[in-house]
Amino acid sequence: MINGDPYVTQVKHVKMIGPRRAEQLARLNVYTVHDLLYHFPREYIDRSRLISLYERKPGDMVTVVGRVISCQENRPRPKLTVTKAAMEGDRGLFYAVWFNRVHIKKMLKPGTRMYISGKLVKGFGNLEVQVHDFEIITTGGDSLHAGRIVPVYPATGGVTQRMLRTFIHGALEEWLQNYREFLPRRVLDGEDLMILSEALKQVHFPDSHALAERARRRFVFEELFLFQLQLALLRRNIVRVEKPYRYRPSNELIKKYIAGLGFNLTSAQRRVVREIMEDMESPHPMHRLLQGDVGSGKTVVAILTLLKAVESGLQGALMAPTEVLAEQHYLSLNRSLAPLGVRVALLSGGMPVKDRRSMLEKIAMGELSIVVGTQALLQDDVVFNKLAVVVIDEQHRFGVRQRGSLQKKGVCPDLLIMTATPIPRTLSMTAYGDLDMSVIDALPPGRQPVRTYYVAPGELPRVFSFVARQVAEGRQAYVVCPLVEESEHLDLQAAENLYQKLIENELRGYRVALLHGRMKRADKEQVMQQFRSGQVDVLVSTTVIEVGVDVPNASVMVIVDADRFGLAQLHQLRGRVGRGGDQAHCILSARLRSREAAERIKAMKFSQDGFYLAEKDLQIRGPGDIAGVRQSGMPEFRLANLIRDRDLLQAARRQAMALVNADPELRAGEYHYLRLALERYSQRGGGYYHIG
Ligand code: ADP
Ligand code: MG
Repeated sequence: MINGDPYVTQVKHVKMIGPRRAEQLARLNVYTVHDLLYHFPREYIDRSRLISLYERKPGDMVTVVGRVISCQENRPRPKLTVTKAAMEGDRGLFYAVWFNRVHIKKMLKPGTRMYISGKLVKGFGNLEVQVHDFEIITTGGDSLHAGRIVPVYPATGGVTQRMLRTFIHGALEEWLQNYREFLPRRVLDGEDLMILSEALKQVHFPDSHALAERARRRFVFEELFLFQLQLALLRRNIVRVEKPYRYRPSNELIKKYIAGLGFNLTSAQRRVVREIMEDMESPHPMHRLLQGDVGSGKTVVAILTLLKAVESGLQGALMAPTEVLAEQHYLSLNRSLAPLGVRVALLSGGMPVKDRRSMLEKIAMGELSIVVGTQALLQDDVVFNKLAVVVIDEQHRFGVRQRGSLQKKGVCPDLLIMTATPIPRTLSMTAYGDLDMSVIDALPPGRQPVRTYYVAPGELPRVFSFVARQVAEGRQAYVVCPLVEESEHLDLQAAENLYQKLIENELRGYRVALLHGRMKRADKEQVMQQFRSGQVDVLVSTTVIEVGVDVPNASVMVIVDADRFGLAQLHQLRGRVGRGGDQAHCILSARLRSREAAERIKAMKFSQDGFYLAEKDLQIRGPGDIAGVRQSGMPEFRLANLIRDRDLLQAARRQAMALVNADPELRAGEYHYLRLALERYSQRGGGYYHIG
């Protein structure tokens, strides 16, 4: 045993690792002894029982030892190199075959002994192994590399598997005893986890596949647990703050507003409003995420939340991701609230300096009760008088950073974050694990599902004729063209071309307008205004309309090149139609070049349920790509996979919550090592919020 802390001791102090090796290891992000021991195998090869090739079937994955007799390289086709080595195996000759490994021949000198793993095939009466993995045997019968289940590590040029095994084995011998178990006893027992020192041994040099798996499970849990613990503590900190303002119990304004709505709230809306009001009436700040599918009626909930503040002589802010949406919110808020005597303002980015200044004054004086805006609300010169509540719409366009800086404006205002992109539970527990959750799980009555079709691009003329007929009947339509960041220019071109084509052909004589992100703000607003008021029949647009736009008379959505959109995005776009009582149509035109694209289209045709589609999206694309999740501060996990390990995630969350509830500051002596581990975890940036 050595004195020192494996977390800070540099890897060059491990025996047999000199400065040069240390440099190479740095390329694997291994700097300290701890990094080395937490450099886990990507897979294992079973060399514990080398079964003779003669006892295996073609198609089997095999691992054998062989000695090179001779080697040949062929190029049957320009892009194909086949290297074939004749090998002496335990009972005779076999061939090892590599494809397109041009440099491999140099390593295959006659006499070289090696482990070979790969697929067994039978070629012309010979036994042949198509090599996936091989390892040259440099020393005789070393116990780390043979006769056991052998780890295979992520490696780079220079550092071989054998070196890594040797280094890690050495480090384990010297340093294992410096590791203290930091997971609480109760958690270890409750989740049946392997203890740290045993897990470190078994994850690298397992005695069986089952033990390797148990070791891996422990480390996945550990990673998820530290992460959830951090969230739980963060949440705890917010929840402990006392709010500076209290709301009056009267609800006159709210009642008046509801009475004027012209429809009844759905029971789902009533339930979430109740949850929100309870939060607001509590002495601690609300910190809540409201999820509701497109069209489920979140805006009404937002307004009720804001009115609660207005009613008590306090202020509310409503933040939207785009100017178009902020404007739309402002218009609808003003329409319904001005008659009630509530003063609403739009603070937009493009205001003349003078107007802005006078508006800021009114905000600071508290003359304006509700301020609507985009990120512009976050600027330092925006000072509220008594900001009690902040509602953020369509959260996924806001990063975590913005979330934090708005909170700083008021003294810990109540916070309601709304998202129309349903987030699979596994992801919301991570990306939003610090928030309480409300879900509007039902649409207002009378909505018909949007009929969804797939067409090949060649059928688009027929689709546009259909659009023309719908417009002739008084409906409105969207035509959406993709906008991909790398080439905004080209996409704009495509949208412009399509627009030209439409007004000259299928939609000649109709009122068609083009909307795209490069337009001036005022022009955009004007086009939207015309579409809302029915002066424009068809809106040809890039994805600027994606979130939140509400024009009930629009009944057709055509999405061109739908294969270039993610599922969540397609669902959002489709949600723009079907808001009135009429049958709505969504036509997806795409070239199905990949299986993923075909799966997405199929899912869209099959379901209108945002939560279902979000789960599908997660399956098809993996967590990193889910709309908004990356921007929202999703951590990268080293080991854990949120799809495969969702049960462990649940368990980790449960345990972390229980722990923090029982001991909010982890003060007990038994948590000493846990506190240390947590500190290191957040220092490594394994953590989550880096607000500020
Ligand atoms: P989203 O949740 O996507 O933001 P909106 O708040 O824009 O949805 O609501 C969509 C439409 O449904 C709006 O036109 C709104 O007036 C209407 N709406 C909301 N709640 C109800 C309800 N309870 N009954 C009938 N219509 C409703
Ligand atoms: Mg909305």
